Parts: sequence; structure tokens; C-alpha cells
Amino acid sequence: MDQVDPRRLIPRTDDLLALPAVRAAGKRLSGRVIRELVRQAQEQARRGELAPGQVEPALLAAVAACSATTLRPVLNATGVIVHTNLGRAPLSAGAVEALVAASGYVDVELDLATGSRSRRGAGARAALLAACPAAEDALVVNNGAAALVLATTALAAGREVVVSRGELVEIGAGFRLPDLIESTGATLREVGTTNRTHLRDYADALGPATGCVLKVHPSNFRVDGFTSAVPLGELSPLAAAHGVALVADLGSGLLAPDPHLPEEPDAATALASGADVVIASGDKLLGGPQAGLLLGRAEIITRLARHPLARALRADKLALAALEATVAGGSPPVVQALHADLGQLRSRTDRLAEALGVPVVAHEGRVGGGGAPGVALPGWALRLPEALAGPLRTGDPAVLPRVHDGSCLLDLRCVPDGDDDRILDAVRQALATLDRADAGRAG
Ligand SMILES: *Cc1c(COP(=O)(O)O)cnc(C)c1O
Repeated sequence: MDQVDPRRLIPRTDDLLALPAVRAAGKRLSGRVIRELVRQAQEQARRGELAPGQVEPALLAAVAACSATTLRPVLNATGVIVHTNLGRAPLSAGAVEALVAASGYVDVELDLATGSRSRRGAGARAALLAACPAAEDALVVNNGAAALVLATTALAAGREVVVSRGELVEIGAGFRLPDLIESTGATLREVGTTNRTHLRDYADALGPATGCVLKVHPSNFRVDGFTSAVPLGELSPLAAAHGVALVADLGSGLLAPDPHLPEEPDAATALASGADVVIASGDKLLGGPQAGLLLGRAEIITRLARHPLARALRADKLALAALEATVAGGSPPVVQALHADLGQLRSRTDRLAEALGVPVVAHEGRVGGGGAPGVALPGWALRLPEALAGPLRTGDPAVLPRVHDGSCLLDLRCVPDGDDDRILDAVRQALATLDRADAGRAG
């Protein structure tokens, strides 16, 4: 008797698409993605990699594992709190709840009582003003860079932005503040030198061509030694005498001073010192979503809000919702990681070290994300062989360690304590992956 070609037994496309679990996945995944998973399963069977009877279970597994996003959650074991490559601040539970609530139709720009249009993002604005009473008004845009572009465009396009040479910083990935500012049509008027700028340097530069005075916090590096900069309190009367705004780009997003970060500027202090507008990011030390905050004098914030560019830079409803919940809620993960209890961190690290039989070493975490460059956050790390870094990154869950001095270091500061056992599992899996690779080479 002729043998039946097994390829003829491969389940047909229509039958596979009709499977209840595959049809249900149509709520999460597009028809194109699902048809591709079906095609791949059939193709594996045609190549003989799957028996015909395995096509259906393989497809169901593939559908279950397929997600509509390719972004993968990562456990951050670097000890770097605001890690730009990992999306900066992880959101608080309250902010996540707000994101979900705002994901449908939502009254972001509507007064439900009257049925008429309302000020966009009024909730986020109110939360910011409550948290920073020194500000008369607030405006939220897409990110810190957008806030800076809006302020310099509205206040100084066609005129000069007076700024100290010591503050012309590159904020990462090759983006330089001077380029950003000049892209707005303003001219940079650099004053002073890299290490020292005096009040008279500003005084000499201010004149009829001045659009605004800008003070930038050099957030991601430090100049030590023979340095001097002019504090906002001294610049403020000078700017006021010339009738121009004093803008302070703080970067970090602290609304009020943090005793852990004595050198990090904050919005309340900057405004009290005489800044007319402060600029900050939402996803650095504030611990919220990507956003750019403009806080300050009502008359100037109104001017910025009415500028046509404000429309192009506006924050979306999800960011507004998450920002409001971050500012109005309990301390977000970034703040918790910054203020982590050292005893607890040590005992968590010890428990994992014991379970894995690996040493604990002293390790300093960082604020990161271009904040508090001189601040080391003392703590500990598990020390593992460097070769584990790759398998940890590509494992499930993905874990990002710090590779340093020939070791793979796992610092638990930024790992939620409920995830310690997931780290443990991830390390065991990574060790097994390495063992298999070694056995493969040996064999
Ligand atoms: C981070 C930073 C910016 C840019 O803010 P984003 O929110 O990343 O766009 C601008 N200025 C300073 C001083 C910063 O530290």
C-alpha cells in the first residue's frame, strides 16, 4: 500500500484559523500577524520539523506567546535609577492605573458639568501647582527638550538667548542644547568661560537684542576646581532690569529639595530665587512619564501656551494622566529606589547570594539619566561571571546587569522587592544556558 505523504496531513489554514484560541487572539493581534503564525507552523511541518499532529499545539503556543508589542519588560539590576535606555522612570501603580483609565475616551479637554471645552490637562496642572506652590502657572509639553524649544522660541526667536559657556551641554545621544536652541531661530549669546562666568559677563551681554537669559543645570557632569557660576538670585534683578525673562532649565524634575541630593536644583527653590520659568523633565527624578514641565510666572506661561508651537509639542492624554497621578500620588519607584533602606537591600542581596552560592560585593548605584552626576548611592551587588550577562539580557524575564571589571554585577536597588525570586530564576536559567553552551562546545 502506498504510504500517505505526511505533508497532506498538515492541518489546513481555514481549520487552524477557526480554532477558538486562535479566533480569540484576534482581539489582541491583527489578522496578518495570526495568518503569519499559521503559515510558520505549517511551514515547519512541511520541512519535517513538526509532525502534522504537532502543528495545532505549536500554533496555540505561538499565538499565546505572541504579543502585540515587541517591547520587553526588563528587570533593571544595574543600580542606575533613571536609565534612559530602559525608558527612564518606571511608573507607580497609581500612574499605571491612570494610564489605563485614560486609554479610552476621557475628559482631557472637556468640562463634563457644562459640556463645553476645557483647558487641556487641567488635572496635571492643578497637581503640579499644588506640589509646587511657588509656581503661578504650569504647562506640560512632550518632554524637557520640547519645553526648552518652546520657551526659547516664544521668548527669543529672532533675538538672543544669553547663556554661560559652562552650561552649553550635550544631553545624550549627541543632542546638544546649543543646537536645539539655535534651531528655534534664536541666536546664542555665550558669556563667560567654561569654568567661570561672572555677573558682569551677563551684564555686558544684555541689551536690546536679548530675548531671554537661560540658566542650564549641567546635569550630567561636574566641573570641579577653579569654577564660578552666577546663582539665579543674582541674575534675576539683572534680567528684570532689562525686562527679559530668566529661564532655568533644571533637567532633573525635582519640584522641591531632596535632602539626599543636596546639589540637585529644584523648581521651588529656583522660582523662589527669581527664575521666571523653570523647565524640567517628567521622567527623571520626578519619576513619571515622559513630559516636559514649564512652571513659573502666569503671564509667561500663558504666552508659551498660546504660541503656535505649543500645539505641536503638546502632551498626550496618557502622559497627562500618568503625570497627574505621579505628582499627586505616593512616592514613585524612582524615589523609592533613591531612598532604598540599606538594611533591607543588604538582606535581600544576602538571601539571593546564599541561594546561588555567589559573593556579595559593595556596589555604588547612580541616579543616572543625566542627574546628580557626583552622587554615589552605596549598596551591594551579587557578583557573577561576566559570561552570564548575555544570557541574562536575553532570558525571560530579561535582566540587565552591570558589567564591570570582568564581572557581571546584579544590584537590587531598582528591582521591586517582589521580583527577587524572578531574578533568582533568571540567574539559574542563565547558568543553565551557559552550561549547555559549554557542553555543546565540549561535545
Ligand atoms: C534631560 C535634560 C534635558 C532634556 O529633557 P528630556 O525630557 O530628556 O527631553 C534638557 N536639559 C537638561 C539640563 C536635562 O538634564
